[in-house]
Amino acid sequence: MKKPFVTKAQVEDIVKNYPTPFHIYDEKGIIENAKAVYDAFSWNKGFKEYFAVKATPNPVLMQILKAQGCGFDCSSLTELMLSEAVDAKGSDIMFSSNDTPAEEFVYADKLGAIINLDDFTHIDFLEKTLGKIPETISCRYNPGGVFQMSNGIMDNPGDSKYGMTKDQIIEAYKILKDKGAKKFGIHAFLASNTVTNEYYPLLAGQLFELAVEIKEKTGVALSFINLSGGVGIPYKPDQEGNDIYAIGKGVKEQFEKILVPAGMGDTSIFTEMGRFMMAPYGALVTKAIHEKHIYKEYIGVDACAVNLMRPAMYGAYHHITVLGKENAPLDHVYDVTGSLCENNDKFAIERALPEIEKGDYLFIHDTGAHGYSMGYNYNGKLKSAELLLKEDGSVQLIRRAETPRDYFSTLDCLGVMEKLYKIMDGGK
Ligand SMILES: *Cc1c(COP(=O)(O)O)cnc(C)c1O
Repeated sequence: MKKPFVTKAQVEDIVKNYPTPFHIYDEKGIIENAKAVYDAFSWNKGFKEYFAVKATPNPVLMQILKAQGCGFDCSSLTELMLSEAVDAKGSDIMFSSNDTPAEEFVYADKLGAIINLDDFTHIDFLEKTLGKIPETISCRYNPGGVFQMSNGIMDNPGDSKYGMTKDQIIEAYKILKDKGAKKFGIHAFLASNTVTNEYYPLLAGQLFELAVEIKEKTGVALSFINLSGGVGIPYKPDQEGNDIYAIGKGVKEQFEKILVPAGMGDTSIFTEMGRFMMAPYGALVTKAIHEKHIYKEYIGVDACAVNLMRPAMYGAYHHITVLGKENAPLDHVYDVTGSLCENNDKFAIERALPEIEKGDYLFIHDTGAHGYSMGYNYNGKLKSAELLLKEDGSVQLIRRAETPRDYFSTLDCLGVMEKLYKIMDGGK
């Protein structure tokens, strides 16, 4: 059973100020989960979670995580800017980018961020760009092949564009050391949305063994090992979620088995979770505005794939609760659609739901990560507001909804703005 963190009565109250659709985030859930993450890894002295900013790039939410001790994982100019704006400094920022423009390396270095090199050739590129190699540097590893867990194949690193091969990464540490780097890290992201407690421990085991090999072959003792993201959440109501304490314990066992005997017991563990930190604590609230009966039954809502792209892009499942009908029988089957001129603009396909009437509010679960942030402006549709349900029960607007002015603002290089302003202002 998935339970919404707001009731129908709360939503009826909220829409008096902020009309649907909107994303809403649950501060209490975010804080409790972040505390659990830190608790589960408290055995590691240097543990730090670098929240993957791309998942939910909102400074208010970033500040909530920062207060719990989180840093930020960035991979673009604007993500670095957001991190600077919430006063994240130096090693509180991880720059895990790829195909990186020179000016982003310059900015990351100016902020003192830890730069995580995606490729062997970036050593040279970085040195030429900055005129030096930073004292602290990290390298991203790609073991190739398939990444397999006991429940079958999970992901395909051999097909992914990220990271360096094993030979390259070993050579990279030698070169970086020769060029004066003093503190080293390793990073790998081998499987996405893993709903199993096995992923991090398995990845950690591989990285810890590699760390020992790197020390033997290059004399570089890694200061930190970054397990990156990939810890999943149960989008479907019948899935069992990850237990972060079991995950922390599993990583600790590998740590004690591999790193401690190699004299590397002071290595810090870093993570860069996005989804696990935020997805369950955000939802898209949308109103049913149409019903349509043709070859199938359709419910049209006031949100569309612009607000939440995962179903259209990946066929991803997002659970839907019809607020006020939590206990009603699921005796209707609907496609729940948005208004884009794209037939994949469907939040649910042939989903068993209670009978939906126009005006009902639908709570689309687990949109707190890779939800709002993946949005776009296709069909000229405008992106929604973001709201925060605070611990004291009050609601704060943390991003206003886009207006036509926002959508047209990049046309200000043309002569049409005067006319557009007139149209937007209703001809006045
Ligand atoms: C996307 C990303 C993450 C976060 O991934 P989740 O699956 O949301 O945990 C972390 N690190 C890097 C480099 C990423 O690209």
